[in-house]
Amino acid sequence: MSIEIQGINKFFDRFQALNDINLTIPDGQLTALLGPSGSGKTTLLRIIAGLESAEQGRILFSGRDVTGLHVRDRSVGFVFQHYALFRHMTVAQNVAFGLDVLPRRERPGKPEIRQRVNGLLEMVQLDHLANRYPAQLSGGQKQRIALARAMAMRPEILLLDEPFGALDAKVRKELRRWLRSLHDELHFTSVFVTHDQEEALELSDQVVVMSNGSVEQVDSPLELYARPDSRFVFDFLGQVNVLSGTIGNGIIRQGDAWVKLPRGCDDDDGQLYLRPHEVRLTQQPTREAHLPFRIEAISVIGAEVRIELKPDGWECDELWEVGISHSDFNARKPQRGDRCYAVPEVGHLFCEHLDEPKTLNWH
Ligand code: ATP
Repeated sequence: MSIEIQGINKFFDRFQALNDINLTIPDGQLTALLGPSGSGKTTLLRIIAGLESAEQGRILFSGRDVTGLHVRDRSVGFVFQHYALFRHMTVAQNVAFGLDVLPRRERPGKPEIRQRVNGLLEMVQLDHLANRYPAQLSGGQKQRIALARAMAMRPEILLLDEPFGALDAKVRKELRRWLRSLHDELHFTSVFVTHDQEEALELSDQVVVMSNGSVEQVDSPLELYARPDSRFVFDFLGQVNVLSGTIGNGIIRQGDAWVKLPRGCDDDDGQLYLRPHEVRLTQQPTREAHLPFRIEAISVIGAEVRIELKPDGWECDELWEVGISHSDFNARKPQRGDRCYAVPEVGHLFCEHLDEPKTLNWH
């Protein structure tokens, strides 16, 4: 079932929490609502669910207007950050809860409820824990039970609000993979709220980036990371190295730092944004770029060695970061305080006269 969000405006007294939201959530896909705290993600999710109403706008499910419908009549399932399982009920009773309280004419018979609960527990791979109580489960197991309970009603849409927020990093990662494979098997339409970029990029088919109650960009994770439309999205999606400078004679320059630009990049001021993987480190400047640094810190981040760099003879607000392989690191053994040069391979130029950043390639 697809979800169409049309012209949604939401106020809390005079504060505008959502500002003219227009969005399509495709059928059968996993969509992430990603944004900093207070950007309106939960409010939008609650409006989709029917837990909150908007002053203006419409919500359509596969073309059907559900704006005025009560949450009960929308066929949506929810999972929240805090599992909210009933402590006095077993796992199986928790999963059956939504079915047990249906009006008599809609309620399946006891054998069918039992069968459905067993099927759901198998699906979340916790059938062996059916008779346990929530207190006897780990956080990750509780969250899987919460998901099984949400799906017991066979909703066509599943809404998840920071579903893994309360769990430690390793369990989060496992549950993400598990949710993704479950989703690929069952193809329900899901929308989940997160403020974690990595989670949104790893898990979803489509990411909706929000800020201050507005949608900033909607794209696939790969597109979003490779071609952010705005500085906000660029910054929010991960580490970025920035050279702010003056543009003239085919060069962007600040202090001792400069980078040659392709033809057609003319403006007064501009910023060159580079992701860590778009930059190489060398011991000499090249003909295309002169970006001198001193090595400030070296740390091992799993498969990569992260080098933090302090500009030498020019300035930037935050240290630059470049990742190098362990074999490169061992071959060169760079030390803290060493001088080195960054060589951009790909970059993104923001300047006044461009509506969108221009992607540059120095290969
Ligand atoms: P978080 O990641 O912190 O949960 P969020 O992006 O989900 O944030 P919302 O919870 O949707 O943000 O809140 C958006 C804005 O609306 C915030 O500024 C919040 O303070 C405000 N807000 C949310 N609910 C209410 C309410 N019931 N009454 C008044 N203001 C509210």
